[in-house]
Order: sequence, then C-alpha cells, then structure tokens
Amino acid sequence: MSTNASLFERAQRSIPGGVNSPVRAFRAVGGTPRFITRAQGAYIWDAEGQQYIDYIGSWGPMIVGHGHPAVLEAVQKAVVDGFSFGAPTEREIELAEEILKLVPSAEQVRLVSSGTEAGMSAIRLARGYTGRSKLIKFEGCYHGHADALLVKAGSGLATFGHPTSAGVPPEVVQHTIVLEYNNVEQLEQAFSEHGHHLACVMIEAIAGNMNFVRASVPFMKRLRELCTEYGALLVFDEVMTGFRVALGGAQSLFAQWIPGFKPDLSVFGKVIGGGMPLAAFAGPTEIMAQLAPLGPVYQAGTLSGNPVATACGLATLKLIQQPGFFESLSQRTGALISGLTDAARTAGIPLCGDHLGGMFGFFFADQLPQNYAAVMAHGSTRFNRFFHEMLDRGVYLAPAMYEAGFVSAAHTDKDISQTIDAAKQAFAAL
Ligand SMILES: *Cc1c(COP(=O)(O)O)cnc(C)c1O
Repeated sequence: MSTNASLFERAQRSIPGGVNSPVRAFRAVGGTPRFITRAQGAYIWDAEGQQYIDYIGSWGPMIVGHGHPAVLEAVQKAVVDGFSFGAPTEREIELAEEILKLVPSAEQVRLVSSGTEAGMSAIRLARGYTGRSKLIKFEGCYHGHADALLVKAGSGLATFGHPTSAGVPPEVVQHTIVLEYNNVEQLEQAFSEHGHHLACVMIEAIAGNMNFVRASVPFMKRLRELCTEYGALLVFDEVMTGFRVALGGAQSLFAQWIPGFKPDLSVFGKVIGGGMPLAAFAGPTEIMAQLAPLGPVYQAGTLSGNPVATACGLATLKLIQQPGFFESLSQRTGALISGLTDAARTAGIPLCGDHLGGMFGFFFADQLPQNYAAVMAHGSTRFNRFFHEMLDRGVYLAPAMYEAGFVSAAHTDKDISQTIDAAKQAFAAL
C-alpha cells in the first residue's frame, strides 16, 4: 500500500512541490500532506485508510457534504449526455436563473470555470464599463491569482502596491492600490486622491483568506457611499462567502445591517460548482451588457457553463434552499466554535472565534483581529501544533492559520462533539 509519505515523495518528482495548489503542501504547518482517496458526507479518507472529519470541504464547495445522493444523481445523468459541447445548453439558463433568484443585486450572470477567472473578468468589466484603470483592493483579501491582484501594500499610505509574486511586472500592478482592511481613514484618503480614476473596489466582505475577519458595518457603509459618490463600482468577491455565510451571501447580511445596501458586481465560485470547476460574475444588465458578444469587453471560455459542472452546481443550489438548511448549518457551526472556545478557556488557552452560516474562523488570541497586520502579528507556532494534534485525532482542519474553515450539512452533532473532545485533548497537549 502507498503511504502518504511515499506518495508525496513520488508527487514531488512529477509535480512542482508535489501539489497543484500551494496550500495543499502543508508548508505552513509542516509534515506530510494527506493524499485523499475518497470522501463521503462529512468524512475524507487518506491513502493509508485513515478517516478524518473534514472541515475544509474542498475549501468551501462541499456545503451539502461529499457525495450527496441528489448531487451524485444529477452529475451521473449529465455525464451520460456528454461532457462538453462548446454550445449553449438549457441547464446554463437554469443555473443563471437560480443564481439571480438568490442574488437580488444581479440581473445577469456569466459563468466561468474558476474564481480567479471570475474575479479577473469582473475587473476587466468594471474597467471597460467605467473607462477607468485604477482599482482598490485590501491587504489580506484574496481574489485569485490574476496578475493585477497579486499585490501587497506599498510603503506609504494609499500608494500603489508591489507585486507579491515573481513574474508580475510592476507596470501590471501600477493601477492597483492596496489599503488596510477596516481602515476608514485610509479609504477616504485614497478616494480623495484617486477617486475619479477608480474603476472599482474589490473586497471580501467577510474575509476568509486571512482567517475570518468581518468588514465592520461603518467601514462597509462608508465604502458604499464613496463608490457611489465617485462612480467606482463596488465588487463583492463572494467566491467563498456566496451561498455559504447565508443563502444570499455576504451581501444579504450587509443588506440587513445597512438598509438598501447592495454591491454593483458580485463574483461567485466554490459553492456554485458544488465541487466542480464553475464560477461566475454577475451584476445589473446595464453593466453586464458591456460583455462580448453584446459589448466591447472581451471574455470567453471553452469549458464555461460546462454541462456536468452546471448539473452539479444546480443540484447543490437546490439543496441549500430547503427550509431550515442555513439555520441548522449555522447552529452546528456555532456549536463547534463555542465548544472550541469553551474547551480552550478551561485549558487556560486564549482562543476566540467567529462564524456565519457554514463558515468559521478561530484564532489563538483574546480578541479577533480586524485586519491582516493584526492576523499576522500573532505567531503560528501554537496553531501549527494544534493542527497536528487534531489531525492525529482524525480532524482535518485547514493547514494554515490564515484560512477559514467550513462545516457542511452532513456534519452531525456527534461529529461536532467528537471534534470538541479531540480539541480538549489537543489543548491539554499544547
Ligand atoms: C478561492 C477564492 C478565489 C479563487 O477561486 P479559485 O477557484 O481558486 O480560482 C477568489 N476569491 C476568493 C474570496 C476565494 O476564496
């Protein structure tokens, strides 16, 4: 039998770093990545036959659990009819209609194959629509690996960013301004300097790529006002939060907290594919009509709206609309976080957490961080030890402290209490 270690060794000969997406390599936490052979419900199994309670869920898509019978049936039926046609299908319309029904800010949607592609296309659309070049992003928010978005803050306040990856020329990010998350003052200064040249501001309204950090309501309210005042589009990157923190995504929550609130464009991925390569960007018809073939903004994809992926996404979106789905998902995710924080308190370990819908984060500190610098100010030593203590006890958490976690509808109360029991032992071992 192959072991995780022997597979990792073999993988590194043919695949750079042995993985096809860097976080899978366990670099942040050390140790050997688990090679997964199968998954069912809330569980995954590795090459050594070890079972884990899965809190990654493919980084968000598996909200109904792995191998849900209704999703499986939809995919199996679709596969028999053909893998890809490169021509329109009725199922694409059905999925588009389903998304638009759940996202009132959008009137039209275009399907693509990855969150990266959706984010990149939304920015091109924002630039094409406004005729402007500059954009604002926030430190710690991840919007995929498009060149213009692989940027960290420059030295001064509201200056242009520096590439965070080799291979991204400085000229390519010269229009990207990187600001601190939740910092109203910086936001106002950036708008007063660059507001009339801004095509858009892109944000994870509930940031899941720096652990779990909510945009504050006053910050979001001011951001919306400034975008409207200066004619810049507010782009919500809901690749992680869409159909995950609530049925209507993060924007439905901010609409509750800020009357009349809505973003101009929205970017989706993860849950809408149910585990298949599928993502989307959406907005008002007036903006979306700028896209080819109607308008001058070019955008295309050989596998866009793929018939198998759309079948998977559609079946998933149907399931999450069942009555009580989000209530019970939220309740279980809440039970996990309160169980973890209680166990840590008993063990005398500082830990705080937050959650919305089926998404959560926890942090070895007394207070939740409000921005990327605060997240990174804490060392990862404690998290890394905790991660391995949990993994050894059959609980599979994200292998880095700056990633959010995910609970699915397949996680039972028993899974949650087993996880909390494992955490009690792990805290004792810390
Ligand atoms: C995962 C993610 C992306 C990128 O999506 P991919 O499908 O991995 O390209 C973009 N934005 C956010 C907020 C994400 O969480």
